[in-house]
Amino acid sequence: RLDYRHIAENVVYKTTNAQNRKAPIDHDAIQSVARAYTEFKTISSALNSQRNARSAVGERIRHSAKENDAPAKEAAMAEALTIKEEIARLEAELASVEETLLSLALAIPNDTHPSSPLGPESAAVELSSHGPNPIPATPTRDHVAIGRQLGLLDLESAATVTGNSWYYLTNEAALLEMALVNYALSVAIRHGFIPVMTPDVARSEIVRACGFQPRDHADQAYHLAGTSQDLVLCGTAEIPLAGMFANKIYQDTGLPLKVVGVGHAFRAEAGARGKDTHGLYRVHQFTKVELFAVTTQEQSEKMMEDMTSIQTSILSGLGFPFRVLDMPTEELGASAYRKYDMEAWMPGRGAWGEVSSLSNCTDFQARRLHIRYRGAVQPDHPSPTTFAHTLNGTAAAIPRLIVALLENGATFDDEEKLTGIALPSILRPFWVGAD
Ligand code: AMP
Repeated sequence: RLDYRHIAENVVYKTTNAQNRKAPIDHDAIQSVARAYTEFKTISSALNSQRNARSAVGERIRHSAKENDAPAKEAAMAEALTIKEEIARLEAELASVEETLLSLALAIPNDTHPSSPLGPESAAVELSSHGPNPIPATPTRDHVAIGRQLGLLDLESAATVTGNSWYYLTNEAALLEMALVNYALSVAIRHGFIPVMTPDVARSEIVRACGFQPRDHADQAYHLAGTSQDLVLCGTAEIPLAGMFANKIYQDTGLPLKVVGVGHAFRAEAGARGKDTHGLYRVHQFTKVELFAVTTQEQSEKMMEDMTSIQTSILSGLGFPFRVLDMPTEELGASAYRKYDMEAWMPGRGAWGEVSSLSNCTDFQARRLHIRYRGAVQPDHPSPTTFAHTLNGTAAAIPRLIVALLENGATFDDEEKLTGIALPSILRPFWVGAD
């Protein structure tokens, strides 16, 4: 399923690309893929010759039996035995080389879009900015202080029940979560995305196939102990949504397929420190509305722009300042070919904060999940299958939207006393209890 030939023929590109992305694989390992692929081809061709020889010997055995030529038959049968042993040896050798190839090649990240900036997060390029001018940073707009005063957050009970970085949303904040979910869903549905409620748990092999490493990064993912299966709490609904399409072959005319999932994202976030862990910004569980698309190879770049405009439309409706960034190589993870992040201005934090993200994973996930399509089927001439492209993007990651809404929307009287939150009217039709 992985394109070993492409890797073997592009060792220099793959090595530089892995370095640019700070991926945990070096030149030697990538070179080993090229070597193992040559070995793989040699063994495969030896195996094919032996299989052909087996057919020829079989023919000789049948012929000598028909002719009652006992010595010829005996010689052919002895030869058949040797060939059988050789085939078994080659098959075992091939399986072992294939295993090496697979384990090395799985660690190679996706290729990178030629326009993606090189380097760390600070090298991100701003593509556009939206909304009103940012209001000046001030601690009086801190979402935790505002949320506490208005009875919207209960971090103390969460600390008792689960620990730090868990939270209860109370009163209007609970309704705000539901309104945001339904608002984001409604925009996605209007753009042809099919709504799906996803499982929040997936087998670790599906998680890995999506480009995450649940085993190696046990500090980032929660594993479910005590079950006979190797199950992980999903860090994003992208995983169950991608898994829905696994092992399927679509007709090219039926693509793109577009779904929007509502799920809970679980993140162990070990090592997270400082102002990021304050309040709702970096938490262990959050509700997320996720866009996911399966496209042909030709459609994915346009789909990336279409999904950006859906995300832009959702965030624009919420009325706070935000910007779209083209993310640099070190921020792409294993699976993304290109990634755009959207950051909202959060005056209480005094910083821009990522509120959504969009990745074109090209065929990286489709190869691992076996998601394919084919063109028109001709009589007696089945058209070959091609690996699809997949894209995922945040429609709404609730806690950070709440941070942005509280910090930008807080209203104060002349004495600088908090009076409430001005929420965008676009949420009104989605508010439980609104007339
Ligand atoms: P990611 O899948 O990591 O690109 O995250 C998608 C979106 O989820 C981000 O743009 C954030 O808005 C949000 N997000 C990611 N991690 C967390 C977290 N630990 N707590 C709250 N929101 C998060």
